[in-house]
Amino acid sequence: MGFMPNARVFFRLTPLTRLSAPLLLNAWEAIPGAPAIQVVNTPPAEARPKDVVLFSFLSTQLPDLHREILSLREKGVILVAGGPHASAAPGFTRRIGFHSIITGDGEAALPPLARDLANGLELQTEYNGGRGNDISNWLPISRSIRTLPPLELMRGCVHNCTYCAVPLSGPPRFRSLESVRCYLDQLHDRGARRANFISPSALEYIDPRVGTDPRESVAELLASARSFCFEYIEYGIFPSEIRPGSLNREWSQLLRKHVSHRRLTLGAQSGCPERLRRLRRGHTPDDVEASIIVANEAGFGVNLDVMVGFPDETPDELETTLNFVRRMHRNHRIHAQVHHFVPLPGTLLQHSFPSFPGIRGKQNLLRMERDGLITGQWKCGERDARRYLTWLRQYYPDIYEQFMPDRPEKRP
Ligand code: SF4
Repeated sequence: MGFMPNARVFFRLTPLTRLSAPLLLNAWEAIPGAPAIQVVNTPPAEARPKDVVLFSFLSTQLPDLHREILSLREKGVILVAGGPHASAAPGFTRRIGFHSIITGDGEAALPPLARDLANGLELQTEYNGGRGNDISNWLPISRSIRTLPPLELMRGCVHNCTYCAVPLSGPPRFRSLESVRCYLDQLHDRGARRANFISPSALEYIDPRVGTDPRESVAELLASARSFCFEYIEYGIFPSEIRPGSLNREWSQLLRKHVSHRRLTLGAQSGCPERLRRLRRGHTPDDVEASIIVANEAGFGVNLDVMVGFPDETPDELETTLNFVRRMHRNHRIHAQVHHFVPLPGTLLQHSFPSFPGIRGKQNLLRMERDGLITGQWKCGERDARRYLTWLRQYYPDIYEQFMPDRPEKRP
């Protein structure tokens, strides 16, 4: 498995992990003596034995990537996996065919990997980047691809929602405002018209040098973005959503003053109080409504993130959530974005089957989509969850068997 001096290194881009690539490539480019890397959007058919291919993927992409992985492995190509699935389930990822796994912070794991390749050494089975890396040190701007993704402000999360993989990165780590300014400066130099950000909870961003009040940090961040005169400044809308309960009048006025959009994204997830409690969301449907009212009063419409297909979700529970959406739509300015639960490795619900909506539930969802109340992302989520579980059952039945073995009637 040793790397040969004339071997090549490929970075395999996929549409769903494209936005994380610039940061990782930037980290790679900064490593002294790192082998040159070729970025490919399609299976690297030209890869030869002893070449290296770095993959980053989500669990639900595995049914599509499996054949490619096996065929590269058969050719004698050295395969390295990173990304959320590999980091949460390194043993399983090795079984799929990867020689080496990147766990923890990818940008911190790459230097030892690159050094081993540069020295022609055999790769370790795992390169662990840990969870202590200062995310301020890395910007998502690379010489190798032109993509300018939203800037990650915060990694990890204190809330421990049972379905979510973000807390696997540990307690939140924040990007400093100095690093934000540096990024905005480079964005501006590249002629970008839009400044936007990634945060699992937009109103919890803190720059420790400003203080412990997130509003002061966000005010400074947005004022900084304004100073560069970007045409579009986005904050509090996907991918920097707002947790219900954290929005109040002061916050909405601050956002209204600085951002260019007129909608905010709120993570409601469910209209059922008991489900929210079991998910450990830390808010109620009433908190969601209170945040919607605040947003509407400040002149914002609301994109309401809702999820269906939770484990053990009954038709009645689904109807409760849909009724909540109908009521919010009737009384306020919202549009719901409906997603479907997928069991993700490493989360508390990693071995729980989704409850796929039945015929009646689907009819209701489709009707609401037709009537303009909701979006239809749940259909892709349902398809992805089914394909992933079917793939697991076919190729890794022992892992599939860990899914609630006492509930065979729930299996897809
Ligand atoms: S769903 Fe949001 S609030 Fe909950 S753990 Fe994930 S990132 Fe944190």
